[in-house]
Amino acid sequence: MSGIDDLPPLRDVIARFDLSPKKALGQNFLLDLNLTAKIARRAGDLSGCDVLEVGPGPGGLTRGLLAEGARRVLAIEKDPRCLPALAEIAAAYPGRLEVIGGDALEVEPLAHLTPPIRVAANLPYNVGTELLVRWLTPPDWPPYWQSLTLMFQKEVAERIVASPGSKAYGRLALLAQWRTDAKIVMELGPEAFTPPPKVSSAVVHLTALPEPRYPADPAVLSRVVAAAFNQRRKMLRAALRGVSPDIEAHLVAVGIPPTERAEQVSLEAFCALARELKRAA
Ligand code: SAM
Repeated sequence: MSGIDDLPPLRDVIARFDLSPKKALGQNFLLDLNLTAKIARRAGDLSGCDVLEVGPGPGGLTRGLLAEGARRVLAIEKDPRCLPALAEIAAAYPGRLEVIGGDALEVEPLAHLTPPIRVAANLPYNVGTELLVRWLTPPDWPPYWQSLTLMFQKEVAERIVASPGSKAYGRLALLAQWRTDAKIVMELGPEAFTPPPKVSSAVVHLTALPEPRYPADPAVLSRVVAAAFNQRRKMLRAALRGVSPDIEAHLVAVGIPPTERAEQVSLEAFCALARELKRAA
């Protein structure tokens, strides 16, 4: 018994299925089920929702999501060693847990999910950032998910919620804040994980806005932001020269001083610039 369900403690599960953590798969497990239940609560009201979980590992967060009332969980796990442990959880929650063995970057989960859908994950950081960018840039908005509740290295979490003028402000902040409300909802030291990683972590909760915060063409906005931050120390009139030969006039037209640097420019101003460039194209 573990406190949140009738299944065995995770240390026993790991020993029984021989799930010694593999560095190559970014396996830093959460073994405290009270903590995983707390993270699941940060994902919002799960009772009427399907939850997509990526990288369940031995199932700590999966059990938290189920114990907190998720209608169904779809879990995608790359490490086949974890599948028998996850099958035990599925048996304890009949009809509520489906597990797909595979790489989340290659599996298309939508066919297995019914809206409303929330996403929750404690992933290796490289995979987490790539999936976040994909979740934030679907062909249409609003996306299929209502919210994303994701564990990141604390430094990455800070980049997602950063404001203009801070060192962490850049493409990730603009991408996330354009179409979601993004908040850090929990911070965790290395000791929360087995084995402990070198850095602290944080859980970010992103809620999809019904429409982008300010109008802009996604492709134009993405190109402008990429160019601006690729040379973040340069003045915008130089950094954006490749985007338009008349960039200085376009910057002035939307009230951005051409001598400004990217990290000083608000999301609203970047969107205005993207609209101006689209209009002039
Ligand atoms: N969610 C578990 C927890 O909180 O204890 C495990 C977290 S561990 C940081 C990351 C998990 O993601 C591991 O189980 C690993 O095998 C899995 N994983 C790594 N890359 C993956 C990928 N591309 N697709 C699906 N799962 C992946």
